[in-house]
Formats: sequence, C-alpha cells, structure tokens
Amino acid sequence: MIPYARQSVSEEDIKAVSEVLRSELITQGPVTEAFEETVAQYCSARYAIAVSHGTAALHLACLALDVGAGDIVWTSPNTFVASANCAVYCGAKIDFVDIDPATYNLSVPALEQKLIEARKAQQLPKVVIPVHFAGQSCDMKAIKTLSDEYGFSIIEDAAHALGGQYLHNKIGSCQYSDITIFSLHPAKIMTSGEGGLVLTNSQKLARKIRLLRTHGIEKYHELKEAATEGEWYYQQSRLGYNYRISDIQAALGLSQLKRLDGFVKKRHELAQRYNNELAGLPLMLPWQNPDTRSSWHLYVIRLNIHEINKTRKVVFEQLRSMGIGVHVHYIPVHTQPWYQKLGFQTGDYIECERYYKEALTLPLFFDLTSEEQTKIIDSLAEVLNH
Ligand SMILES: *Cc1c(COP(=O)(O)O)cnc(C)c1O
Repeated sequence: MIPYARQSVSEEDIKAVSEVLRSELITQGPVTEAFEETVAQYCSARYAIAVSHGTAALHLACLALDVGAGDIVWTSPNTFVASANCAVYCGAKIDFVDIDPATYNLSVPALEQKLIEARKAQQLPKVVIPVHFAGQSCDMKAIKTLSDEYGFSIIEDAAHALGGQYLHNKIGSCQYSDITIFSLHPAKIMTSGEGGLVLTNSQKLARKIRLLRTHGIEKYHELKEAATEGEWYYQQSRLGYNYRISDIQAALGLSQLKRLDGFVKKRHELAQRYNNELAGLPLMLPWQNPDTRSSWHLYVIRLNIHEINKTRKVVFEQLRSMGIGVHVHYIPVHTQPWYQKLGFQTGDYIECERYYKEALTLPLFFDLTSEEQTKIIDSLAEVLNH
C-alpha cells in the first residue's frame, strides 16, 4: 500500500541521532538548544522552543496567553482535534469559524461576521487559532487586522506548514501573530520522531513557555534565593508540565531541518504533476492563493460526486483495494461525539461539512517515486471514469 504520508530518514539523519546516543546527555540539552536556534533563524522569529509534541506546543501557547476558565477560543472545524482540544485543556470555551470553500482554511468573512455578533453578545474570543490547512497559509494580514480591531490574540497552528511561506516571510516568522506552532510528527513535512515547536517574537511569552515546559520550575541560577539556599535549590512558581523533547529527537529534527527546503521543493514538483495530470477528471484541484507558498503537507482533491455517480466511500475503498493509501482530512471537529456532548451539532458549519463529504487526500511525500505517482493517477482515473 502506498501510504498518504511517510517520513524520509537519511543515513545522515541516523548518524546525527547516533552521535547523541553516544554522548553524555540524551534528554533536553545542547542539541535541543542548537535545534531551537536554527529553527528560529530559518523562520526569522526571535524565539523557538522545542517541545514533546505539536499538541504540547498548542497547549503551552494557550497557557502563555493566559487562556483559562471564562475565556473563549475560536478555531477552524477543518483540522485535527488537537487545534480545539488545547483550549479545552485550559478550561476555556471553544467555538468554530466555518471554512473558505476555495482554500479550506478558516474563512475571513465568516470570522468577521462572527466577531460582529460576538461583540454585541459580549462573547468575544481571547484567542483565535487559524490552521494553515494542508500547508497553505491563512489570510494572516486580514486576520491580524481583525485582531487589532477586536482585541484577540493569534496562535497560528502551522502543524502542516513548516517550510511554507506567506507573502515574503517564512511561516513561523510571527509577523501577523503572537505565536506559531509546528508539529514534528512523522506524517508532517519533517520529523523528530515526535515533537513540536513554539515560535514567538515576544521575550515575555518565550520565557513563560520555557517555564511551563518544565513543571513551572526555575533553577537556582535564575533565582535570588539561591544565594541563601544552595545549588540544589529550585522553585516551582507556576503549575507547568513535562513537555520536554529529548536531544535524541532534537538531533533528528536538526538534521531534517537541513533537508527541509529539499522536502518542500520535491512536494511542489509532485503537486504540480498531480495538478497537470488530474486536470481533466471530475474533481476540484487544490486552489492556491498567490500570496502563499504552500509546504504541500497534503494534496486534497474534491470529488465531483454528481458527475461520477459514486460516493466518496466507494472511491476510497476502490483506491485502497488497488494499493493506494488515500485518506480523508478532516472529519469536522464539531461532529466528533465528544464535541457534540458540548452542544455542537451537525449542520453548524455547512461549508466544512460539504467539503468533508467530497474530500480525498492523495499520497504525497518526499520519497514518492514517479512510478508510484503514475499508479496513483492511473488508478484514480480508472475509478472515476468507470
Ligand atoms: C498533527 C497536528 C497537530 C498535533 O501535532 P502532534 O505533534 O501530533 O501532537 C496539531 N494540529 C494539526 C493541524 C495537526 O495536523
């Protein structure tokens, strides 16, 4: 089966990880620091903090912005559940903004409309989490303008978008946001096995995120009490977590970062070939906003169900039986049983639900061969034309 996503691990990557295994420190140490500095430079952000998962990065981002009970957080329903769960972890109320039918990202007109109503009801969000779906940036300039007008903070969920660009900046520069997070899960653009990153230009937020990454504990050298106590002394000043990454993982991340531009370039070539060769089929190709340069985490087509006389389920199953590991991104978060218990209902976000019924993710990853891609294209044509 050709999977929809797969990590690419080189001999160089393995060598970098082995070196850490032979060294003194294997948990968070100098390699993690080097990884953080290199990521910050790559994205032109002032601070980067490496953590255990993208989900931990989202949780820490919310905590750093003081999201808590009584606060409201908005995100897109077309995302992985983690984008919404992070707000719930903090005790906040979560709500969703419907998607744009062309990009499948959070819709800016829908956001503006919802803000107007929320202001009247005195229910404005404290934080909005735009998700750069499939690696294509949201319209960050417009979202930032609304944040200035309505006073919310912005966390970019860029789990899909490491290596992508918006206008003239790398995603992660935080030019139009307070914080950006990345995931380093093996299915994403590059990996550290498991891992996540939090980027910000704010020294205050960076400090808080570092503190909360390790139990809310400050070490002796950061404390004035250390003089009267001793070198063993530490102090827990806030309730934090253990969201550290290990140097073993950071070594893989640092090594993969050297390959990142190559990963994205190859993904562009593969996406371009799909665009060219699928153009005549009864489906909608993924539209690209010219302000963005996607990292192409996912290649998602929308089936023209009426024309093909087959449900998405049948198309999915026929392709799977032919060895094509197609997938679906995403089941709208508000339709998940746990979210329905919070009061959300099917029908709440029409564009997202309509999109979901027709969406199909085709395999796209760095090591996908030309022969494999030919097989995918031919199989899809066969399934849709018969
Ligand atoms: C993968 C993903 C996450 C979570 O990242 P993990 O590293 O798996 O915890 C968050 N948001 C989105 C949009 C994702 O795709």
